[in-house]
Amino acid sequence: MKYQSFLIKYSEIGVKGKNRYIFEDALVYNIKHALESVEGDFKVSKVTGRIYVTTEGDYDYDGAIDSLKRVFGISGICPLYQIEDNGFDDLKEKVVAHLKDVYGDKKYTFKVNARRARKNYPLNSMEINMAVGEAILDNIEGLTVDVHSPEKYINIEIREKINIYSEEIKGACGMPCGTAGKAMLLLSGGIDSPVAGYMIAKRGVNLEATYFHAPPYTSERAKTKVIDLAKKVARYSGPIKLNVVNFTKPQMYIYETCPHDELTIIMRRYMMRIAEHFAKESGCLGLITGESIGQVASQTMQSLLTTNAVCSLPVYRPLIAFDKQDIIDISEKIDTYETSILPYEDCCTIFVAKHPVTKPSLKVIERSEMKLGEEMERLVNEAIETVEVIEVR
Ligand code: ATP
Ligand code: MG
Repeated sequence: MKYQSFLIKYSEIGVKGKNRYIFEDALVYNIKHALESVEGDFKVSKVTGRIYVTTEGDYDYDGAIDSLKRVFGISGICPLYQIEDNGFDDLKEKVVAHLKDVYGDKKYTFKVNARRARKNYPLNSMEINMAVGEAILDNIEGLTVDVHSPEKYINIEIREKINIYSEEIKGACGMPCGTAGKAMLLLSGGIDSPVAGYMIAKRGVNLEATYFHAPPYTSERAKTKVIDLAKKVARYSGPIKLNVVNFTKPQMYIYETCPHDELTIIMRRYMMRIAEHFAKESGCLGLITGESIGQVASQTMQSLLTTNAVCSLPVYRPLIAFDKQDIIDISEKIDTYETSILPYEDCCTIFVAKHPVTKPSLKVIERSEMKLGEEMERLVNEAIETVEVIEVR
């Protein structure tokens, strides 16, 4: 069976009341964008609360499904058999022929589920269910009806045309990207931050990202790895503007000036400050990190309190209560894991102390930072001014 159209089902958007059209329009836009790179000529349309993808001629079915499965806001993708209304006998024949075509000799239990958007249809939903069910039983051997938990729902929607579908491929769910505003992801080359970005994007948030590197202590390969991770996240979130900040001088200066056991915390505080600067500049409504309570010394609750203290924007930490394995499971699902575990240096790990403080006191850290003085301000400004911006899509 070659399907020429798909019915796109969406979940949470359905309850958004008066603003519903904003979510639907964003979803249509994002679907079009996702299908741009797939071979075929796709049309995406919104018809009375339904979104359809239709194609004419040849197209890449697997590629289309693959792309649609990454669009947030879609709960299900139903390959659709659409027919003209040529009377009820014709409908019955076509449903039977369609099932034979798709499932061949397979045995399954089913339930016909008819709905009429057009109430002038000569039969009501109940009558359609009964008559089509009977036609299926009469014409395909070995099938049985199960009204409680059927293996297949044979859906029939009487609209302008008639929609017939019996499969629903699970979508990514969530909300369409771009409907909730924008946030700044602190993206490192690790496992956690790409997952954190994915999770927040899933709630409809557009992403921007900031990466801190420290050449020549961190290599060009480490930077390429982060760009690759951003590309993988962008397959879900849409385009990401990536700010690559040269953090070498501020980092060296902190290293020379502050107690070594406080290095990581002080560095993290400057990362947050710089990321927040870019965030505010481009209208982001929050920051995103991949932090999780207790994962490392810089993520104890005391450490989080200390890093958080420099931010005025809310910091979203979707992984805060996740175990590492749960994070890894998601990174495998979204295909960032293999890239994340490539063994390139990270600017945080190069200058770390052997015994970092695990319970920093905000007062002590602030006092250490005082020593950095105006020189630090100059170095931070220089880092901000020399940012390299990469448009990742
Ligand atoms: P990840 O796996 O995301 O690298 P991690 O377990 O290595 O996290 P940390 O190094 O403590 O944890 O970093 C905590 C968070 O700080 C990261 O999830 C990320 O959001 C941000 N971060 C750390 N290093 C960088 C960096 N070099 N550039 C940008 N953000 C960073
Ligand atoms: Mg890291």
